[in-house]
Amino acid sequence: MTEPTSALKDCLLPLPWHSEQWQSLNDLIDNKRLPHAIIVNALEGVGAEHLAHALSYRMLCSQVENGVPCGQCSGCLTLKAGSHPDFYQITPEEKSKVIKVDQIRSLCESVAKTSQQGGWKVAIISPAEVMHTAAANALLKSLEEPESNTLILMVSCRLSAIPMTIRSRCQIESLAIPDASIAEQWLSQQIEDKQVNFSELLSMANGQPLLALDYLAGNGFESRKHVESLLDAMRNSTETPFAAAQACQKYSPEELIAWMLSYVHRLMVGELQNNPMPALFVFLDKLIKAREWLLSGSPLNTQLLWEELFIEWTQIFQINK
Ligand SMILES: [Zn+2]
Repeated sequence: MTEPTSALKDCLLPLPWHSEQWQSLNDLIDNKRLPHAIIVNALEGVGAEHLAHALSYRMLCSQVENGVPCGQCSGCLTLKAGSHPDFYQITPEEKSKVIKVDQIRSLCESVAKTSQQGGWKVAIISPAEVMHTAAANALLKSLEEPESNTLILMVSCRLSAIPMTIRSRCQIESLAIPDASIAEQWLSQQIEDKQVNFSELLSMANGQPLLALDYLAGNGFESRKHVESLLDAMRNSTETPFAAAQACQKYSPEELIAWMLSYVHRLMVGELQNNPMPALFVFLDKLIKAREWLLSGSPLNTQLLWEELFIEWTQIFQINK
């Protein structure tokens, strides 16, 4: 799943809950000790991509003041326009779910050249966990023999899926889910409609502010509510796994798995906190495996997958009745 982009128009500054990481990164820059490669890791709605963009502005702006990029210089403006010659963004190409070896090879060749504007070269690889094995191996060479004044930023929401050989050569910045008070305050600044129940919205998004914002923009909120109502109905045996699987055919498999994972997590830390069900852990594990399978791009019969998962889901609650 890609990170929601609705709040990413202006990435000159980090988000309020990134302040600690931002400060420590700025200290590293000021002391000329910034590593060549950083993995920014966070759940998809916490803003890892945003922080990577903010750091790109910070590195490519020619008039930084007190750690804040100016937004006006040619570095900032060309970055904003997507035409900065020393900035590279690597994402899966259209219709592909993986970052291919050719993309990484081409990136490595580009950053090996002298920077065109005489300053830093910055590359963002996102999401880093979908790099093909050969792509990761190609990148490894660049990480082992880093170019000067070059920063490689990898954005990830599943750190464990990045090969250890890559991880061990990067500084890892993990962003936690922000305090609800900070997230709600930020949401209230982004959303004009003050009738919105920010606390409920944030809870539905498992505390991830950018995801909450995306829901409100109509991106998936109703669909997700529908899927959660199906999961509830199967728990209460008022819906069959077969019918629910059919009803879910219209959703993207990646999103459906993400919604289910989030629903099960919420159940485990909320309603069922004092009544832990071992079968739920097994189910969670199956969801994670299904997600790995999907992300690998392997062919899949989703109707069968949903049926199998939903049958198991229904059984968990029948046994515990
Ligand atoms: Zn600037």
